[in-house]
Amino acid sequence: MRSGKGASEPVRTVAHEDTRPLAIEACGLVKSFDGTRAVDGVDIIVPEGAIYGVLGPNGAGKTTTLRMLLGIIDPDEGVRRVFGYDRPHDIGRLIGYLPEERGLYPAMKAVEAIAFMGALRGLPLAEGRKRGLELLERHDLGHAKDRTIRQLSKGMAQTVQLLGTLVHRPRLVVLDEPFSGLDAINQGKLERMIRSLAEEGVTVIFSTHVIHHAERLCEGVAIIAGGKVPYAGSVETARDRIPAQVRLETRAREGSWTAALPEDTRREGDFFYFSLPESGVEPLLKSLIEGEAGILSLSIERAGLHDAFVAIAGEAAARQLEADAQS
Ligand code: ATP
Repeated sequence: MRSGKGASEPVRTVAHEDTRPLAIEACGLVKSFDGTRAVDGVDIIVPEGAIYGVLGPNGAGKTTTLRMLLGIIDPDEGVRRVFGYDRPHDIGRLIGYLPEERGLYPAMKAVEAIAFMGALRGLPLAEGRKRGLELLERHDLGHAKDRTIRQLSKGMAQTVQLLGTLVHRPRLVVLDEPFSGLDAINQGKLERMIRSLAEEGVTVIFSTHVIHHAERLCEGVAIIAGGKVPYAGSVETARDRIPAQVRLETRAREGSWTAALPEDTRREGDFFYFSLPESGVEPLLKSLIEGEAGILSLSIERAGLHDAFVAIAGEAAARQLEADAQS
């Protein structure tokens, strides 16, 4: 049982085999705007110290879900608990939040902006300035400490806002589309920052419409489309939902061995492509060798999160995701 004022019994209505304590547990979250359901029954479980992604196209309900988790808006139905508290406002000092709409006071100096954001989460200003300076230096922005926000590049200003999100040393960091608007170098820096937070035991949850960010960083994802979550769980389990793909190249074109190829085999040029049979590749290899197929090459490729997303959320959602990522 969790202790502390306002803490409640865990929800525990969503399957959870992990033994780590939970940072977030949400069950059956529903939110409508003007009679339209923006979020329609979302279940999410995030263990402490995990990096977790909320992955879906624009308008899928990611921001609304994060806002409900943070207590910025209340769900119409369902429960959410953060570190066991069903009123996340009560533990605002444990949370860092980077909203989708970025914005700092343009006339404020970088170090002051960080200290100010810390003060909003209960950190004394003097301590915020000290930590702000350290953070800026650690992220190669020490030279910009006295520059005003309007004098910074967009990427630098975004980094300053992120540092302001972290300055009070939250235990849970919620980032809404943190990669959008960043160039490749700053995206790489942000990835490293997220990883090092998790190594320190901080829980990070972020929304994205870019599959490879979720695939590279997250141990768990909630796939969200049209306000529903058709999958929430580990990235590995999502990938395992789809059989690995085999690519085979043979010297012989025909022969009795072709009968051993699985039903879904398709031929493209010199290659055969098919799903890895449940029995594995060994019985097939035996048939190919005995039938003198003459194996020139054979590779087995595990499905990526993209294939899993297509299988789980459908072609239409995957196409929308790709269009969002390009725009
Ligand atoms: P995006 O990345 O484009 O913001 P999202 O997945 O974060 O997409 P949400 O912002 O949660 O999606 O929006 C989900 C749906 O709810 C959209 O149709 C949006 O127009 C609607 N919506 C969100 N907030 C409000 C609001 N305050 N009032 C009315 N409709 C809203």
